[in-house]
Amino acid sequence: MLCGAEEEDYEHLFRCSKQKQWRTDFLIALEAHLTKRETAADLRLAIVTNVRHWLNGREQVASYQDEVGTWHEFIKGFICSSWSEQQENYYRMHEKDPIQDTGEMWTAALIGCLWQWSHQSWNKRNEETHKADGNRGSAREQLEAESRTRALYEQASHLIV
Ligand SMILES: [Zn+2]
Repeated sequence: MLCGAEEEDYEHLFRCSKQKQWRTDFLIALEAHLTKRETAADLRLAIVTNVRHWLNGREQVASYQDEVGTWHEFIKGFICSSWSEQQENYYRMHEKDPIQDTGEMWTAALIGCLWQWSHQSWNKRNEETHKADGNRGSAREQLEAESRTRALYEQASHLIV
């Protein structure tokens, strides 16, 4: 346990008082990712605001995600298909490449970004926790975790709900 909390569930990993720097870095990276993928401004704002609010335990703003679940689920990669459809419309309206710039590709890349950062938070937590007893994860464990993340990333486009 990083902060000495009695229970460390999945939510706590993200909201832990010791993960403040990770949250800041994650939100900056998420916004940069969405900007790089030329995300429609209203979608980008709704996503970044709601992820920030969820991480800080604040009230959510109404959005497409309400159709399928919570923002906790969004961060895990269960993303409402309406986001994908809206982004698809946006790309078509701006005459983007119909092969590379599709709503589906946008969603797959977003899920990849979310997983990468979740995975990083877990690694950071393990490093900090194991530092205390001098028992860091082995290089092999590290490699296995990375290869699992990559495999999940490749399947991401099939996970759109
Ligand atoms: Zn904690």
